[in-house]
Amino acid sequence: MEDPLTKKVNTNPSRSHLTGGGFIVDDTTPDDIFISEEFTEEQLMIKEMVIDFCVHNIQEPFFKNGRELEATIPEDRNKILALLKKAGDLGLCGISISEAYGGMGLDFNTGILFNEALASGFAFATTLGAQTSIGSLPIYYYGNEQQKQQYLPGIASGKLIASYALTEPNSGSDANSAKTKALLSADGTNYSLNGQKIWITNGGFADIYIVFAKIEDDKNLSAFIVERNYPGFSVGEEAKKMGIKASSTVQIFFDNCIVPSQNLLGDREAGFKMALNILNTGRIKIGSGGVGAGKFSVTKGIEYALKRQQFNQPIANFGAVKQKIGTIITRTYALEAAVYRTDKNVDEKILKKIKNGINDGTSKLNGVKEFAIECAILKVVGADLACYATDEVMQIHGGMGYAAELGLEMAYRDSRITKIYEGTNDINGMLSVAELIKKGLKTNEIDLNGAGKKIPFMVLSEYFRWGKSPLETGAKVDAKV
Ligand SMILES: Cc1cc2nc3c(=O)[nH]c(=O)nc-3n(C[C@H](O)[C@H](O)[C@H](O)COP(=O)(O)OP(=O)(O)OC[C@H]3O[C@@H](n4cnc5c(N)ncnc54)[C@H](O)[C@@H]3O)c2cc1C
Repeated sequence: MEDPLTKKVNTNPSRSHLTGGGFIVDDTTPDDIFISEEFTEEQLMIKEMVIDFCVHNIQEPFFKNGRELEATIPEDRNKILALLKKAGDLGLCGISISEAYGGMGLDFNTGILFNEALASGFAFATTLGAQTSIGSLPIYYYGNEQQKQQYLPGIASGKLIASYALTEPNSGSDANSAKTKALLSADGTNYSLNGQKIWITNGGFADIYIVFAKIEDDKNLSAFIVERNYPGFSVGEEAKKMGIKASSTVQIFFDNCIVPSQNLLGDREAGFKMALNILNTGRIKIGSGGVGAGKFSVTKGIEYALKRQQFNQPIANFGAVKQKIGTIITRTYALEAAVYRTDKNVDEKILKKIKNGINDGTSKLNGVKEFAIECAILKVVGADLACYATDEVMQIHGGMGYAAELGLEMAYRDSRITKIYEGTNDINGMLSVAELIKKGLKTNEIDLNGAGKKIPFMVLSEYFRWGKSPLETGAKVDAKV
């Protein structure tokens, strides 16, 4: 059977040597860089399908009935479940899962494009995002064949709702300090879990939970697939939140919760690495979500600025308004270029691994891991842009922006979470630098030293060219020497 990934990825062999973080020092030619104009018709069709889904099922009912969408959790839980089911029927719950397990088997870049489009689904972006990413990828990437067969087709079709449970009341950023404990029974048939998790997206109605816990006195976390109906498992109240109110967020509790030993996911103590690796994918998706939020905001901003008259003219004529729109466009354009360039690099890496006989899930896992630095950077820039753009578009609307009926204040509140989950922006900022230093100075995957040594020559050559130092001439210093 033709591999869906090979079929869809338009490869350029010269790109596949690229190393994550290498953009700092590598020479890059135009051929190395994927631009969004290169998306195929099929990829753009998927994007349109997701936008259509969000507009018809989320935006239109919202704008018709005022605040209906926000009142849905917990009161209208069934509406969210029906939406998930509808998304599943269209194949949208299985975008990252291969066809062999009932998914669409999209390449990485299309999956990220999908996420840009999903930003127009407000809180549902978080719901479907957890289903297609953090809730299901641990099984797809790390599960054994039996676990994949048992759970993935249900997740891909939307019949099973998935969630990811890492955070605890006393362990957030410091995730490996989690206290939830797993004890193996004397006969080795099951684990007994005790502890609690907090802020679990989809947790109010999920069927399966990827739970991270420490087995006995292990130093590192292990991961388990926990089903909702296991004895000793319970779900708390829905959290009252600033935004994404249509997204379920709960605490979950384990009181001698019995989990069959075959539900250990991956190796013992491999859970912490797994948790971090899964977050890489979630992070770059927040990057493309930022692109979606930027485009949404700029469209709404331009529409209103052309229509709204003050001082006998459209407010679009005023420089301050133009500057707001221009800044959102500039930042969106830059982020879009960076996101899809990176995604294509990830795809090239994945394809190379598949060609070397590594399975689709492991190839995807390691392909994105290679670009962990970029994922962390793009998460920060995407979240910042989502918050900035939704704030500025509200400002362009003046008092109307603050009114609930336009949905802009909802977009503003919804976007704020992106700076907090999938690792706070602060943590991701530090992580990108720490990874870069590791690759540059410890594992030597990036030649930071070599690039650093060239700087004095670059400064001297500028001096001889201009008879002055670059700082005196104001010449642009090219760090990629
Ligand atoms: C709506 C929502 C949905 C969520 N969904 C999920 C989910 O599905 N699954 C899941 O497991 N978790 C989920 N989370 C949890 C989320 O990932 C955590 O809230 C986040 O990682 C931060 O952890 P914390 O809240 O414990 O903050 P803390 O770790 O206590 O951090 C508090 C502050 O200190 C800063 N800080 C911490 N350590 C450092 C450091 N070393 N240096 C500098 N600053 C630091 C942080 O940046 C932050 O500003 C969700 C959270 C929310 C609010």
